[in-house]
Amino acid sequence: MRFGPERKMVVDTARQIYRAGLVIGTWGNVSLKIAGQPLVLITPSGMDYQSMEAEDIVLMDMEGQQVEGNWKPSSELPLHLAIYRRRPDLLAIVHVHSSFATAFAVARQSIPVIMEETAQVIGHPIQTAPYALAGSRRVAELAADTLGLGKAVLLANHGLVGTGTNLQEALRVCQIAEETARETLLARMLGGAYSLTPEEIAILHQGYLKYGQKKPSSK
Ligand SMILES: [Zn+2]
Repeated sequence: MRFGPERKMVVDTARQIYRAGLVIGTWGNVSLKIAGQPLVLITPSGMDYQSMEAEDIVLMDMEGQQVEGNWKPSSELPLHLAIYRRRPDLLAIVHVHSSFATAFAVARQSIPVIMEETAQVIGHPIQTAPYALAGSRRVAELAADTLGLGKAVLLANHGLVGTGTNLQEALRVCQIAEETARETLLARMLGGAYSLTPEEIAILHQGYLKYGQKKPSSK
């Protein structure tokens, strides 16, 4: 079995999204691209996160052919591959159905940049891609288009996709998107949610990229 440590990271992240309540049951999925190789590790379709082990993670090539593994890959594989093809800078994708972010996906609205951590970690409003059936090539292409050069995208009537250069970052993007969606709804109940300006967002995001990730105390 190749890529043991990487497989373990995928399992750990899948368990974290389950424990954090970002998915229910076996929904959601996690993938990790092998740096410098046209290979992607992805969670299997419909498997319980608690019983998932490193050997259950499926190894795929960039054309969607199975390289290793006894299980079928997640049905959202085309979505992951479409994003990796467009964005060679990304190595990790986490997809969840967390309730506040999904509410924005159902309303087909963007999650605005209303908190400093949203500006720092994500750096842009999270847009909802036009609707297409889950698991289809069309939804994969629409999501990759809408993501553009961003970090996160919403799938209409479905859920949230977070990306990163590693799994920790992709998970963090999902957590912050979910929290931002929640705070936006609460603030709107109080009369309105003020977005940060593009200038403020740029300053916060650049500062985070430069210094924020290096601080050992920052979580
Ligand atoms: Zn999904």
